[in-house]
Amino acid sequence: MVPILLAMTFLDHRQVRWGYLAGAVVCIVVSICFQVVFSAVTRGRASVQSQANSWFIIACLALAGLACIELSTDTPAALYTPAMLVGVIFVAIVGDRRMQLVIDGYALALIALIGWVQGLRGGEFLVSLIIYASTIAVINFICARTVGSLTGQINFSLALDSLNDCFDTVGLDAARSTADTFAEIFARGLPYVPCILPAERVAVFHRTGSVERFVLVASWPDLSTDCSDLARLPAVSTALAQNTVVLEPHFCVLPVGYAPDGELVMVIERAAPDGGTDANAAEAAGLLAAAFLRVTSRANFANGLHTESRTDTLTGLANRRSLMERIEMEMAHALRAESPLSLAMIDLDHFKEFNDRYGHVVGDTVLRSVAAMMISNTRDQDLVSRYGGEEFCLVLPDTDLVGGHHLLDHLRNGGRDSTTELGVTLSAGLTSWDGIEDPISFIERADRALYRAKTTGRDRVVSIAAYSES
Ligand code: GH3
Ligand code: MG
Ligand code: MG
Repeated sequence: MVPILLAMTFLDHRQVRWGYLAGAVVCIVVSICFQVVFSAVTRGRASVQSQANSWFIIACLALAGLACIELSTDTPAALYTPAMLVGVIFVAIVGDRRMQLVIDGYALALIALIGWVQGLRGGEFLVSLIIYASTIAVINFICARTVGSLTGQINFSLALDSLNDCFDTVGLDAARSTADTFAEIFARGLPYVPCILPAERVAVFHRTGSVERFVLVASWPDLSTDCSDLARLPAVSTALAQNTVVLEPHFCVLPVGYAPDGELVMVIERAAPDGGTDANAAEAAGLLAAAFLRVTSRANFANGLHTESRTDTLTGLANRRSLMERIEMEMAHALRAESPLSLAMIDLDHFKEFNDRYGHVVGDTVLRSVAAMMISNTRDQDLVSRYGGEEFCLVLPDTDLVGGHHLLDHLRNGGRDSTTELGVTLSAGLTSWDGIEDPISFIERADRALYRAKTTGRDRVVSIAAYSES
């Protein structure tokens, strides 16, 4: 359209203001270059949102080009101005509400500028503005009712298809941790969520099994977005308790599957209502929940084997690999909640002699009994792991040295419901996290405490505080 107007300008009019004409040419060249760069960068795989953004920028450039053409000639005032409305219609079709508002204001400002430069003043100027403003309002209304909702539907199904397609390539690998797989699923899927259900923020939390603790798994626009307020919404508990999608005017909560020790929940802070009816939003939320549920359960299925690679086969306890992951997770929690974190290393006393006397089979049975005794005497949020041989490591969140010492003495005495005599004693070393050190140094200090328990006579608990090595 701009080249046609440009040609007509040359054919019909002698006097040309070359500065404006150069402006028009610049607008055309810039929009062509932009489109070329955009296609090269996205290689034809741009998301619906970024395609709309690109068309919006081109529409803005085209309007500026039209304005320059109008201003470059001596045509009667506002001869080409109605062409501005084409840009408004275009964005009303391909853009979202924000883009529409911006292009409306932008087109009106250009129309005012053209009118003013071409000599419209006073009542005439005002009347032309009012006519254009009301025309733009009517265009928006009609587009929203007709083509807008149609395009909305098309964009919606495109985004839904893209969401399902993006999960096809998620690496479902038994050797990978489920946490990594979930992180990948949500990193890929979340950018499509706002195209399906308009959103300001989206966050996915992992609620740990028995304790009401929410750990952020992924968020949109990016992981640095503060989303802790979303986990505290009452709708989150309702959605998890009833296992249903909860749709509210400002928020939407979707249960999106199970993690090995808890549930996954997605919280969407909805964008300002954009004319979509609640029936549409409910359908969108249902489809989103179904799409994510399908892929998380597929990941859990694929990782079934992987669970075995994370547990110790003799005792069924967590192995060293899941211990390290858990320590890191609990460190993050301790920092956020400003709560203490303790770690204990436990080693059976003279176990070599025990094996030599009774045989390894009896030794194995004792290891299993000790494991069961420790599990039944610790809280759900504590982790009991087999560190190796006849050594165990306990991660005790929200526990200080006094609490930890008390628990370990209790375990040393066989626990509350131990009815059988285990036939072995145990030594334990306990320490608490100083808030900065890495997991290895943390474990090493617990090990030093254990060594001290061994060297000072065994069958005892020794604690070393984070800041004192004495
Ligand atoms: P202490 O720890 O009190 O210094 O003496 P200890 O005899 O327990 O010494 P240490 O911890 O070095 O010995 C570990 C012994 O535990 C060696 C091995 O006989 C036994 N052990 C390690 N793993 C297993 C296992 O899976 N099953 C059985 N039955 N025994 C094991
Ligand atoms: Mg030992
Ligand atoms: Mg040992």
